[in-house]
Amino acid sequence: MGNNTIDGLPPLREVIAEHGLSAKKSLGQNFLLDLNLTSKIARQAGDLTQCDVLEIGPGPGGLTRGLLHEGARRVLAIERDERLTPALEQIKEYYDGRLDVVFGDALEVDVTAHLQGPVKVVANLPYNVGTELLVRWLTPQNWPPYWDSLTLMFQKEVAQRIVAQPRTKAYGRLALLAQWRCNAKMVMEISPQAFTPPPKVTSAVVHIERLPKPRFPADAKVLERVVATAFNQRRKMLRASLKSLSPNIEDVLNSVGITPTQRAEEINLEQFCALSRALA
Ligand code: SAM
Repeated sequence: MGNNTIDGLPPLREVIAEHGLSAKKSLGQNFLLDLNLTSKIARQAGDLTQCDVLEIGPGPGGLTRGLLHEGARRVLAIERDERLTPALEQIKEYYDGRLDVVFGDALEVDVTAHLQGPVKVVANLPYNVGTELLVRWLTPQNWPPYWDSLTLMFQKEVAQRIVAQPRTKAYGRLALLAQWRCNAKMVMEISPQAFTPPPKVTSAVVHIERLPKPRFPADAKVLERVVATAFNQRRKMLRASLKSLSPNIEDVLNSVGITPTQRAEEINLEQFCALSRALA
């Protein structure tokens, strides 16, 4: 694996060897070298020909090349590790400038300044900032957000939390935030052996498409607070875990049809939205 090439550029193994790109654990570097696989991931995002694609953490460019090969109008890649400059420059040149790279921390860079809609986000996210970036994409000030879809690779355990249903261990804040204003599904699993170096756990790709408006009305800030508070003590009954939100929390819960002895895990999205409206 990894010696194939879908374009006229050298195989990634050669690129890595030529530039001495040993993977840094501190930057969550696990690279995908099989360009057939990265093209398949790119295809999960649908038609890219009319879109700007935002990619976080291109590394030596495996997924970037997949995206460009699949016809992305343009790719904006944010990368923290400047050692990757020559590898990414080579891709930019080959694809006639359809790639732009900004070196910096994805948590700091204002990407909207560099993008033209419609925008799709596609990334094999660095492990240490993946969840934080997802939460930021899901909780912007205004809805709809600047992006149409997010096609993201996570550890499988995080992917399961995004698509989880009530009454399961994985159900919680990520599921509710994702499913309130988006459709989210897991579309691929990727074994550790696909990466260099292989991580300890299986990965999965989640495809998230934004809805034009929320499934149920609620104030975003209130909903986020209610959900975070409820799942902060997920084993407790709601009358206890949500006590800080209202002096008469039992009455509020009853008024929206939630039994105060229920636990966060048993409450579905519609009920959390109703509860948020009652508390707003
Ligand atoms: N996309 C490549 C692939 O699939 O082979 C590399 C994925 S690797 C899991 C994550 C990449 O994110 C690394 O290249 C790493 O340097 C970069 N990275 C780590 N933290 C970052 C941050 N805060 N902002 C931008 N890039 C970051």
